[in-house]
Amino acid sequence: MNELRLKARELLESGKAELIIGYEEGSSQKVHASFITAVEDTDKLVFDSRCVQNLAVYLTKPEIRKYESIAVTAPVPVLRSIVQLTAENQIRKDFLVVLGISPDAQLISFETPEDIEHYLEQHKLKTEQRDLEILQRISSMDKNQRWDFWVKTMEPCFKCYACRAACPLCYCTQCTVDGNRPQWIPVPSHQLGNLEWHIMRALHMSGRCTDCEACANACPIGIPLNLLTKKIREELVENFGEFQPSVGSGNMMSTFRPDDKENFIK
Ligand code: SF4
Ligand code: SF4
Repeated sequence: MNELRLKARELLESGKAELIIGYEEGSSQKVHASFITAVEDTDKLVFDSRCVQNLAVYLTKPEIRKYESIAVTAPVPVLRSIVQLTAENQIRKDFLVVLGISPDAQLISFETPEDIEHYLEQHKLKTEQRDLEILQRISSMDKNQRWDFWVKTMEPCFKCYACRAACPLCYCTQCTVDGNRPQWIPVPSHQLGNLEWHIMRALHMSGRCTDCEACANACPIGIPLNLLTKKIREELVENFGEFQPSVGSGNMMSTFRPDDKENFIK
């Protein structure tokens, strides 16, 4: 942690970063995101097992993009998100200094997103055994049981959208659920509307979700909503083969081109 604080201090003093995004102590033994611009505040930075919020979520915010250069504390799930956001043209190459943190809490410096991708070859994204077992149980259900399972799992959702706010890859400036002309997804919380919301979100995440679990960690009532994105990832792997976040190869299920003929992309 000392190394992290020293590196943050050095970056601010040298002007290589104007802002450091990391974690700091909050209340009730919790940590929260920290936005540091003053050298003397770098001592607030902490890193331990409580730091599960995915800080890459801030990299696409207008308030952060106004800085010339920033540094972000990035354990492996955040590194994956940075690679995915780079693949989606959401991060300027000269904008970001990545303070990588290895699983054994060592600080690692990265020069480029390609270096991060290279490092991640040792930490490939794969669904954990406990999740595979749950997904296999769901797959062994008949059609009606599966429908009931998903309806019941999403039933308690009261549409606070904390999951959306926590996800680094939910960066659209206007979300389909917020549109009301027409209103595709009903605003009130009820069984079918809830399922519509979660299916819509999971489909938008297909081939992009880096399984960081920030969405599920953010849910105030503990809905395992990311089971749906895990399920879709497993289906994609089964049908199209293994894939990892990659700067060069973009998304598995979609492409983004600034010269797309559809107006909405501009
Ligand atoms: S959908 Fe959830 S698990 Fe996937 S990238 Fe977003 S926050 Fe992470
Ligand atoms: S955070 Fe939980 S309650 Fe809120 S919208 Fe997401 S799933 Fe629903």
